[in-house]
Amino acid sequence: MSMAMPVCVAATERKKIEIRGLYSHPKAFWDKGARLSDYGVNAVFVHSGSITAELLARATDEGARVFAEFPTLNGKGYVEKHAEAWPINEHGEKAPAATWFMGACPTEPGFRALRMKQLDALLDTFDIAGVWMDYFHWHAQFEDPNPVLPETCFSQSCVATFENTSGVRVPAGSAAERARWILKRHAREWRNWRTSQLLDWAREMKATVRKKRPGALLGVYHCPWTDDEFDGARRRILGLDLDQIATVVDAFSPMVYHGRMRRRPEWVGANVEWLSRKIRNRAKIWPIVQAHTSRMKSQRMNSRKVLRLGASGAASGVMIFKAQSAASDNAKMHVCAGSTESANPSNDDRPGPAPLTRSPPHAL
Ligand SMILES: [Zn+2]
Repeated sequence: MSMAMPVCVAATERKKIEIRGLYSHPKAFWDKGARLSDYGVNAVFVHSGSITAELLARATDEGARVFAEFPTLNGKGYVEKHAEAWPINEHGEKAPAATWFMGACPTEPGFRALRMKQLDALLDTFDIAGVWMDYFHWHAQFEDPNPVLPETCFSQSCVATFENTSGVRVPAGSAAERARWILKRHAREWRNWRTSQLLDWAREMKATVRKKRPGALLGVYHCPWTDDEFDGARRRILGLDLDQIATVVDAFSPMVYHGRMRRRPEWVGANVEWLSRKIRNRAKIWPIVQAHTSRMKSQRMNSRKVLRLGASGAASGVMIFKAQSAASDNAKMHVCAGSTESANPSNDDRPGPAPLTRSPPHAL
């Protein structure tokens, strides 16, 4: 991304864009001597473990709110030491990592208790603007062009919880036999139950956020697929029922990573429009778009384009993934800040009139 790219909005778009965000710690950016306000950035989304009093103070001084990215169901580093939390697949085996991602069993009590304790500590310690649930899905990989979509989790904890909440009695047998029986006889109940488990996590986290920091928001980074893509895998495998989640979260941040997912930049706009119709103002929409680190002009143009498209539809904010790359490119930061390119529509590949320019404060 070019976090170096000014996060701004088209003057011709009259709607209010309340969040012009950067995802990740702005250290690399600051190391270059830049101020967030110089680039129109008014929010940073930082890994919860990397938030410090110093970061909060400096970001605030530069006019940016600090949100915590919270790795909700990321099991890496935990499941290796706590086998009971390792997701179990339909073969009754530990599910292999989904490329670089390793999930956790959402019903394993020890893992959940740890995450909730971490959330408590985070909110007790820092006056942050909100918590964004990340890795909020059952074990899978949706960020790659070829998704990894395993059936999980058939751990003892999950099957027992499924029985208790659904009323379905699963015959005794091996984990593989029980998985086969569930998927064959009660797939619908199973998939509904799986969405309810994520909802339960979200509800508890929301209650904690509201209790400890009443003004803070709960958001979610999520798989951007529509209801039908990959045979409904967003709900069927990841367990994300957006209608249900809309009853809990304050904001959705679809991860519209066009580059990673090998989609055209225009897909970002189409997806945000789709989500806008789906959510119907029940929650805010602040997409996270991917900017390129390439020095190629065409890539930089695409970055501007996806930033503009990410702020389309009902989106009232947009954030850029991610900050470090821009800071590593001095020339790019200079170009972006100077806005010679961005101010000149002939140098942008956008079809419409809305030029992306370095924004005046509060204008995005
Ligand atoms: Zn499980």
